[in-house]
Amino acid sequence: MNKHINIHDFTGDPLAEKALVAPAEKLEEIFTDIKEHMLYDHELHGCLNCGICTATCPSASYYDYSPREIVQLLWTENLEGIYEAMQEKIWACAQCYTCAARCPFENSPGGLVMIMREVAIKHEMESVKAVLRPFSRVLLKVISTGNQLAPNMITKEAFPDWGPDVSKVDAPLDILRKAIPLPTLHTLDTAWVVNLKTSVELFTIWEATGVLDQLESVDENLFDVVIDVMDEKRDDLEDWMDEQEDDDDDD
Ligand code: SF4
Ligand code: SF4
Repeated sequence: MNKHINIHDFTGDPLAEKALVAPAEKLEEIFTDIKEHMLYDHELHGCLNCGICTATCPSASYYDYSPREIVQLLWTENLEGIYEAMQEKIWACAQCYTCAARCPFENSPGGLVMIMREVAIKHEMESVKAVLRPFSRVLLKVISTGNQLAPNMITKEAFPDWGPDVSKVDAPLDILRKAIPLPTLHTLDTAWVVNLKTSVELFTIWEATGVLDQLESVDENLFDVVIDVMDEKRDDLEDWMDEQEDDDDDD
C-alpha cells in the first residue's frame, strides 16, 4: 500500500511547483544540530546582506556559490534552503576564511560552512558520499601513513586538472629526493616517514573522537581497509615494544 503523504509533514511554500525537499522533522533536526554546534554563536552575529563576503570569496568566482546566501539562509532560518545548500553548495567553499576577515559583523561564513559539513556527515547525506568518493585514495594515505600526498602520487595522469606544469614534478623523483638532506624525506611512498607510535596514537585519537565512525558512515570499504592497516600497525608496535622489553631484560 502506498504510504500516505501529509502535506503538513513538510515545510515550504505549498504553492511552489518544485517538490518539497524533506520532511519538516528532518529539516528541523538538521538545523538544530547546526545551531547547537559549539562554534555556531561564535561564527554568526547577524547579517547586513551587504555581500562583502561574496565579493571577496574566491569560490564565488568559479562556482554557483555565495557565502552571503549561506549566511542569509542561516540567519533567516530558511530550513529548506539550508538543506538544499547542503546538497552541493557548501562543498564549494575553499576554507580560505577571507570572508571572515572582511565581514563587518565579524561573521565567519567559512566557519559556518564547516559546521554545515560536519552536520551533513552526521546525517550521512548523499552529497557527502559523492564529494568524498574521489578523495578516498588521499584519505587512505592520510590515515594510514600520516601524510597527505606521497611524491609518487603527483603525476600528470593523476592530476590532469593541474595543467602542463604538473609534468615538472613528474620527474625521476627517486633520484631527486636523495638530494634532500633529511633522510626521512628520501622515501617515495610517503611525503616523510611517520613514527609507528605516532601513527597508532593518531588512530586512537580518531577512534576516540568518532572520526572513524564518521568514515564508516560515508565510505564503508575505505573504513575496512583503514582498520586492516591500523590493526597491522598496532601489532607491529606491540612486537617492537616486546623486543625492547626483551632487550632490557638481557642487559
Ligand atoms: S556575512 Fe557579513 S559580509 Fe556577508 S553579507 Fe552578511 S554582513 Fe555582509
Ligand atoms: S572561507 Fe569559503 S566562503 Fe569564505 S571566502 Fe573562503 S571560499 Fe569563500
